[in-house]
Amino acid sequence: EAPTVRENPRSDAPGVGSPDSSVKVVVRIRPVSGHGKTEDHIVKKVSSDSLSVGDRKFTFTSVLGPESSQEDVFNLIGVPLVQSSLAGYNASIVSYGQTGTGKTFTMWGPQSAMVDAHSISSYQGIVPRIFQMLFAEISKKQKCLEENNISYQCRCSFLEIYNEQIIDLLNPSQRNLQIHDDAKSGFYVENLTDEYVNNIDDVTQILITGLSNRKVGATSVHSKSSRSHIIFTCTLESWCKGTQSKNFSSSKMSKISLVDLAGLDKHKPDGVGERTEDGRDVKQSLAKLGKLINILSGVARAGEDQKIPYMDSPLTHLLKDTLGGNAKATYLCSISPDKRDKAGTLSTLRFGELAKEIQNKAVINEISDDDFSGLSDQIRQLKEELIKEK
Ligand code: ADP
Ligand code: MG
Repeated sequence: EAPTVRENPRSDAPGVGSPDSSVKVVVRIRPVSGHGKTEDHIVKKVSSDSLSVGDRKFTFTSVLGPESSQEDVFNLIGVPLVQSSLAGYNASIVSYGQTGTGKTFTMWGPQSAMVDAHSISSYQGIVPRIFQMLFAEISKKQKCLEENNISYQCRCSFLEIYNEQIIDLLNPSQRNLQIHDDAKSGFYVENLTDEYVNNIDDVTQILITGLSNRKVGATSVHSKSSRSHIIFTCTLESWCKGTQSKNFSSSKMSKISLVDLAGLDKHKPDGVGERTEDGRDVKQSLAKLGKLINILSGVARAGEDQKIPYMDSPLTHLLKDTLGGNAKATYLCSISPDKRDKAGTLSTLRFGELAKEIQNKAVINEISDDDFSGLSDQIRQLKEELIKEK
């Protein structure tokens, strides 16, 4: 049995205390839709990290304009994510914004662009690009003399949160799954499918299966896809087979979390909110996320002895690492340039401004020789005790 990988407690680990530990917030402005008119546009990209909405100016980590390509998004946030996860950090991307602003387009891209995993279509989303790069990097490392003693293992799961229930997108008959939180091994979703993947084709298959299961039950009016959150998780483990003298030197584990959130409601001019059951749930679920972001950014405080309310909802619980925890996190905020979407745009940008203030503590998840020798001592002791008992 491999020991549980714990957080590396060394304070000199890269990323700790460096500017890297702050959350990145990237805003993407979607292009004009077919019927939109340019004179209705109130959002303008001002510089590589700022934009204006009317006379209000906002600054983020980066701003991508309507002309930005899927490749631009990948280069900006996908490449560093792959590098971080290969180095042993947890890393995540959370896609946030009003319905219709391009969250799903940016993350997964159209399915037609996903089918042939080997050719890069210009519409291909950031997630398939991430796994193309990840597997290319792994095979590059395995061909390289200094690193060909490293073995990698990769597992993927895909879930949906709909009406506050967790559904396994790889086995949709599994509904209302429960989260287990354990101080030692962290949290996990009980009975969630976790499939081993060896290459980009395996990942593509999982993405296609999961995304088509999300569509089940979609109607043209209230498409379910904008009413649920989906989280794709990949656990990457690597271990180094030691040199002659030792048969083990170190092991790393990192978690990649890719999150496509339910859409913020289109603002109703008459102030009438969403009336449907799941619409209310989406609102509540996003409100709980907002509350947590408020606390983490220091705007609001949890009660004196009150813990940060991660357990308030399945979404905040599952995003625990991403929200103020052990992960390099990027919030990708999608906005529409249109003046009719102004309320949704401002609310998305306010969310981004708060997220910018969150400080995560990303550390390399590593166990080294020393941990292993300690463990083998423990195993020896336990064996001796067992023998004594007999
Ligand atoms: P959301 O997931 O935020 O509700 P979608 O990703 O479904 O939004 O996007 C809505 C529509 O706009 C889709 O038809 C999508 O293809 C299109 N779209 C969004 N962003 C872009 C973009 N940057 N370039 C081209 N089309 C886009
Ligand atoms: Mg969507």
